[in-house]
Amino acid sequence: MNSKRKCLHCGEELDGRADQKFCNDSCRARHHNTHKNPGEQEIRRINSLLRHNRKVLRTLCPEGKTTVRKDVLDRMGFNYEYFTRIYRTQNNQVYFLNYDYAFLPLVQEGTKKVLIIQRQDYMDRYELPLWPEIDKN
Ligand SMILES: [Zn+2]
Repeated sequence: MNSKRKCLHCGEELDGRADQKFCNDSCRARHHNTHKNPGEQEIRRINSLLRHNRKVLRTLCPEGKTTVRKDVLDRMGFNYEYFTRIYRTQNNQVYFLNYDYAFLPLVQEGTKKVLIIQRQDYMDRYELPLWPEIDKN
């Protein structure tokens, strides 16, 4: 029985603990990067976009509510296509939530702006009308 264990990434002989699989963190990371399944990579990509979006909203709106020009968010790399929930008001305004923050695109004096507010509990109670032909509220 061969007791010489080798790094799963580079093949270097290992002399550490019995359950050691890689010579170092760098080999471990490279191994996982090349073997990660595509679905997992997509999940990570989207999670990191959402996380970044939330950070932008939190930075711009440390408390309560604020309105900023769209180009400010653009410069911070905000991605409008990714959000965690939708909340639609009685007036059909659509808020896009990123976890505990929500943004509402609006136009003021011809300028694109974004209203940012912290998530409110009533937003969570909103249900998307997925079958509006049948489900009438
Ligand atoms: Zn290695």
